[in-house]
Amino acid sequence: MGLNPRNKSHRPEGPCHLCGVHTRLSFEHVPPEAAFNRYPIVRATREQILSPDEFSGEGGIVEPRGSGAYTLCERCNSFTGGCYGAEYASWARQGFERIHRMRTSVNGDADP
Ligand SMILES: [Zn+2]
Repeated sequence: MGLNPRNKSHRPEGPCHLCGVHTRLSFEHVPPEAAFNRYPIVRATREQILSPDEFSGEGGIVEPRGSGAYTLCERCNSFTGGCYGAEYASWARQGFERIHRMRTSVNGDADP
């Protein structure tokens, strides 16, 4: 049985990085989950970052929920997600679509 980060009893406690209240912390996706950050990633260790030519992706730390950390209380995480998450996700989708159009255009696929 693996760790279920959505289960509140498994969440770490500590001071919220925004409001400072000591409580159970929620997982803050950075970038937001809706901005292509809902799939597992492999995070390089500090040593691997310092030697990028030697890092193949193996031996890194698997983050099953995507990039992020337990940094905010649920209230602050919801607040910041509501204020900034949707706009960031919209911007990321626009960038993704733009890059996709450029790549299909370069590859000879006509794109109106
Ligand atoms: Zn907070």
